[in-house]
Amino acid sequence: MTHEVDILIAGAGPAGCAAAYDLAHAGRHVLLLDKRNFPRHKPCACGLTRKTLKALRYSVDPVVERVCHEIVLQQATDPNSPRPRNSEVRVKTRNPICAMAVRERFDNFCLQQTLLAARQGGSIELRKIDRIAALRESPDSIEFDIITSRGLETLRAPILIGADGSNGQTRRLCHGAQRPPSAQDDDGFALEATVPYTPLPATLPGGTAPHDLVFDFAPLPGGYGWLFPKADHINIGVGAFAPAAGASHAQIKQVTRALLLDYAQQKLGVTTLAHITGQQLGMGGHNYIPRGRVLLVGDAAGLVDPLTGEGIHSAIVSGQAAAAAILSNSTNIAATYARKLTPLQETLAFSHRAARAFYAQPERGFKAMRFRVMRSLILKTYADGLPHTRLLTALAKLTT
Ligand SMILES: Cc1cc2nc3c(=O)[nH]c(=O)nc-3n(C[C@H](O)[C@H](O)[C@H](O)COP(=O)(O)OP(=O)(O)OC[C@H]3O[C@@H](n4cnc5c(N)ncnc54)[C@H](O)[C@@H]3O)c2cc1C
Repeated sequence: MTHEVDILIAGAGPAGCAAAYDLAHAGRHVLLLDKRNFPRHKPCACGLTRKTLKALRYSVDPVVERVCHEIVLQQATDPNSPRPRNSEVRVKTRNPICAMAVRERFDNFCLQQTLLAARQGGSIELRKIDRIAALRESPDSIEFDIITSRGLETLRAPILIGADGSNGQTRRLCHGAQRPPSAQDDDGFALEATVPYTPLPATLPGGTAPHDLVFDFAPLPGGYGWLFPKADHINIGVGAFAPAAGASHAQIKQVTRALLLDYAQQKLGVTTLAHITGQQLGMGGHNYIPRGRVLLVGDAAGLVDPLTGEGIHSAIVSGQAAAAAILSNSTNIAATYARKLTPLQETLAFSHRAARAFYAQPERGFKAMRFRVMRSLILKTYADGLPHTRLLTALAKLTT
């Protein structure tokens, strides 16, 4: 038996919830599918930049555990130099740069807010599924076979929002032109773990304080190690993000448990880590061209920023763009979505080029940060998503 659905969304993470929120708020009826029960763990350091907080339709203050006004950027100097040592730049602002949350609680909070949005006249039905078995697209609808605890079921909807993340099925099931061209080949990968503050000294072996927000470009090429301070623990991780002309897979392979353990020992002095988890980061989405009746959003569309590894902002913005395209009543929803996605994709295309340049020679980027204007631009771009043209102009001025 086939069930008719108004709007189908696969995935209830930040992208799926952002889309469901706006659709339900506008009176539409959404079937939101996820293969996990919430609250659920999702590997993520959950650094929420100012632009992310601004993009959300509601305050997430109840789940913010810490607000950071300073970033510590670290980098190894040339190991062949007579006295190799880590160099450090501290960038401080009056306004908060990044809010820290724990992803499990953040996602559950966003889901609850989204379900409340349905009070405006629309509805959201949240359903747990085991997996998606098949996706068929015809000129006027999508048919979606799902497997649940009750067996196989077919759903039919005029449109599907694929919000099931980097490991999700919708990006794989969308064949040919639908699939983001370079996504999955360009994906990044990151591993994380948590370490409670209690056994840690006031000055950590890596030279920083336990509550510092640290991005460290020393441990691996094409990415960074991080220390993100939460209420009662540090989220520590290593990730490779940079698109490195044929070397991406080699870089990703370096992101191992051994690397993370070694990094944790170096920075925090701990020798064991409980609960190491990791996941791909969907990338390459600056080339994604939405077509047909499946709108990919967030990591499923490959929209993680390759310079910073940040993906929650893109997930929210793309989810909202997909909802706006559906609500526009356009005869070509995919083309409308493509137009609404363009500003984000332009920023990601710039990040793609900047990541290639920066990660090829991070020491040059560090040199540029000696200039106050450069530090403030980089910080503003990370925190606020400053239009890339301004950053480009400043870069060009400094390098000529
Ligand atoms: C270690 C690590 C650290 C990170 N740190 C940060 C950070 O500090 N800040 C930041 O902005 N970004 C960070 N990111 C990136 C960020 O986690 C992602 O970009 C973001 O979660 C993307 O949101 P999404 O909604 O597209 O996908 P997801 O958050 O992955 O949500 C997808 C949802 O779909 C569900 N799902 C999967 N498959 C199916 C299926 N077949 N059917 C139905 N549902 C399905 C999943 O259960 C999940 O709920 C990090 C990523 C990693 C791996």
